[in-house]
Amino acid sequence: RSGAAFTAQLRPATRASNLPVVCRRYLNEDVRITRTGKPILTVSGGRSSIGGYTATIFGATGFLGRYIVNRLARNGVTCIIPFREEMAKRHLKVAGDLGRVIFMEMDLRNTASIEESVRHSDIVYNLIGRDYPTKNFDLEDVHVHGVERIAEAVAKYDIDRFVHVSSHSANLDSPSEFYRTKAKGEQVARSIYPETTIVRPAPVFGFEDRLLNRLAGATNVITSNYMQEYFWPVHSIDVGMALEKMLHDDTTAGETFELYGPTGYSMAELNELVGKEIYKQRRHINIPKRLLKPIAHYLNKYIWWPIHSSDEVEREFIDMTVDPKAKTFKDLEIEPVDIKSMLYEYLKGYRSSQYYDLPPMTEREKREEKKYLHVID
Ligand code: NDP
Repeated sequence: RSGAAFTAQLRPATRASNLPVVCRRYLNEDVRITRTGKPILTVSGGRSSIGGYTATIFGATGFLGRYIVNRLARNGVTCIIPFREEMAKRHLKVAGDLGRVIFMEMDLRNTASIEESVRHSDIVYNLIGRDYPTKNFDLEDVHVHGVERIAEAVAKYDIDRFVHVSSHSANLDSPSEFYRTKAKGEQVARSIYPETTIVRPAPVFGFEDRLLNRLAGATNVITSNYMQEYFWPVHSIDVGMALEKMLHDDTTAGETFELYGPTGYSMAELNELVGKEIYKQRRHINIPKRLLKPIAHYLNKYIWWPIHSSDEVEREFIDMTVDPKAKTFKDLEIEPVDIKSMLYEYLKGYRSSQYYDLPPMTEREKREEKKYLHVID
């Protein structure tokens, strides 16, 4: 059969099928101009969109990282992911189309590797942070010296935007070393690159968080302050959305954002809500600070998996503070989600199997259901 005859034979079948005809002129094209006047072509076309921008995301292998990489890569932004451990980065590859997610090996002390990661980008996000000191890096190394090297590389290659993720309650005079070093890191970033956008998230909740998973997990909850610390938990998806908006909104350059949820809770209140949602109360042990701090400090030196650090014990005694001058979700036109409305979604896996696939319930229904389960037990 000749090629033409074969094509003619195929044609009617193709026409008869209900496949949508993809036509380039229906795709939405747009040219954006960056802060420094660079034209960026964006073409929207589902997973194969061209986002135009190139973004480097330091700390993408952590909990929050996936929520920004996912948003950027699926909109066609080329994401450069500096990483240090092969296995920690694999889940990010599928966030975007082929070639959208690019990995680069990096060490926080190796300036050349940092420069290599940022030099082709239009925006750099820094999400690197640690709750506890490790054998090779203390909090100052990660939150101050690391930030310094990244900000210097950003300034050297004249990158358009730098978004630095700090922390709520960052304060130079804080009794917690974590908050102190985070505040110092903000200062360093701003002194090297004045247009740095600083983002201070409240304690973040989501599937991989260290908040709900700690309260609902199988181990005993050990605290020092009877869970009295007060904070406004924020949803990881909201923070991801805010970070993405900052890429497209150049008025956010040089601003500080406090990203926190709509409702404040003490840890004890949250613990009670978690208990109700998973139908069990985890054992809570309170150990005085003067005992727990040295124990945590000592254990952290010899145990190689993360446990409650002595600085985290100190942080239990500090309520979250919000800078009233900073911008918030409102300035980004985002309505943050209340943790209460998401508890079922994130905690259903912690329920016993007899409750597992029940739909979300109102308080009244829950009481009735308990009665019903009691009858069939
Ligand atoms: P994670 O601990 O989950 O992730 C931290 C990231 O930083 C990881 O990618 C980790 O890389 C990287 N990192 C840590 N130390 C180093 C180092 N020495 N060298 C290179 N990379 C390093 O943090 P989250 O995703 O939860 O948080 C992101 C940012 O937001 C952090 O700066 C954190 O302090 C801040 N924040 C988080 C809050 C929360 O509730 N989660 C609340 C307030 C602020 P690797 O995977 O290789 O270890």
